[in-house]
Amino acid sequence: MNFPRPKVVVSKCLGFEACRYNGQKIRDHSVDLLAPYVEFMPVCPEVEIGLGVPRDPVRVVCEEGGSPMLYQPATGRDVTGQMLEFTSRFFSQLEQPDGFILKHRSPSCGPWDVKSYSSKENPGAAGKGRGLFGAAVLQRLPDLPVEDEGRLRNFTIREHFFTTLFTLARFREQERTASGIRSLVNFHTEAKLLLMAYNQSAMRRLGKITANHERHPAEKVWELYGRELVGVFDSPPKFTNMINAFQHAFGGMSDRLAPGERRFFLNTLEEYRDERVPASTVIHLLKSWAVRFDNRYLLGQLLMEPYPHDLLEITDSGKGRSY
Ligand code: SF4
Repeated sequence: MNFPRPKVVVSKCLGFEACRYNGQKIRDHSVDLLAPYVEFMPVCPEVEIGLGVPRDPVRVVCEEGGSPMLYQPATGRDVTGQMLEFTSRFFSQLEQPDGFILKHRSPSCGPWDVKSYSSKENPGAAGKGRGLFGAAVLQRLPDLPVEDEGRLRNFTIREHFFTTLFTLARFREQERTASGIRSLVNFHTEAKLLLMAYNQSAMRRLGKITANHERHPAEKVWELYGRELVGVFDSPPKFTNMINAFQHAFGGMSDRLAPGERRFFLNTLEEYRDERVPASTVIHLLKSWAVRFDNRYLLGQLLMEPYPHDLLEITDSGKGRSY
């Protein structure tokens, strides 16, 4: 399968430059894994606002009734204005990205789970919130996949992020190069089982949009489809929906299989349901039969390979299935 090369904005300290407050960088496995398959656009907001490397750490301060502030306790500097100014300049010059990987818990980059202090003087964190740059990403580009490198250690979150990143990038690439509705119909056909696994009612709504009974112009149909499509990937698929999509794929080939093979598939599906094997095991089995029967429809389905195969790693942070 051919894959688009998504553009991913990434926190620069995640392996690109030693720009952390302490003059270090962090090697991140997910970033390393993705490097051959995406175009990274690294950025360090704190360096961009002139804080230098190394520097005294900054923190998010959120006083009662006020907006979040970016404050440097050692110097007493409030750098909120600089950060907000940089952020709006950054977004005004940004070429359409396909996703973001941001530094976990950073007061600037962190999209969530960032320590927030109730006053400049208070030495203890009072709660959790967003870094200033991370918050702007979520506010300005709510339809894009955004993750932090910490959460990407969880297998489910990583798989969902990769699937969303590559599927939406594929859609955008085809939208840019397509000349009419035909390519949208092709996209929808390839994505059908993946959409079924994520959200069956959205799959039907998307099908209606491609049918275009209202006879909208092609650009309008692409726009309507794109708007609905991003909502499909709001959260990882429920495993019951995945099973439904697997059964659908299996249904197209089951009458050509021996009874023992059918039993084996159903047992494997049970193992998947019980979290004893990952989805990739079921997919591999389906694929082997699709190859045997030269089932082009199934082999062309995004569900069979939603992102480049080399990115598939079933290692996990240990938090288990979160869907
Ligand atoms: S977390 Fe963001 S601001 Fe901090 S060093 Fe990394 S890239 Fe720079």
